[in-house]
Amino acid sequence: MLLGTIFAADWVIHRRDPRWLVIGVFDEPAHLASAALVSRRPAFLVGAVLPDLDHIPLALAPDHPKGGDPRPKSHCLLLTATVALVSPAAAAGTLVHFARDLADDSGVPLLWPLSDRAVKVPYPLYGLTAAALALHKAVNPS
Ligand SMILES: [Zn+2]
Repeated sequence: MLLGTIFAADWVIHRRDPRWLVIGVFDEPAHLASAALVSRRPAFLVGAVLPDLDHIPLALAPDHPKGGDPRPKSHCLLLTATVALVSPAAAAGTLVHFARDLADDSGVPLLWPLSDRAVKVPYPLYGLTAAALALHKAVNPS
């Protein structure tokens, strides 16, 4: 179920080329599914979607670019460190969020503000990791 949510979302996002706002309808459940492969603790799941909160004002802006927006600066390890001060579980969830976004074409500015460089990994690395986690969960149900 979780792996199906991830791969179905990514199929739609990458093969159907939906509008930017529609991508979020598929991407956020895939972030939650990715996180749930690791932990279902509520704070962890909140952390797994937390970095995308700054998409909301961008989406509501009247001059919103139709082609989407660059990856917000909230996608960096500074956010993880800041969140860790409040909730280590939520901070760990942000790392799973970044793991998924690393496999996206635009990458993640993980080291901002030290560097604006977007870090990327090939999508198969994310997909295979998610499949391995799903297999591990199937073999070791908790
Ligand atoms: Zn994101």
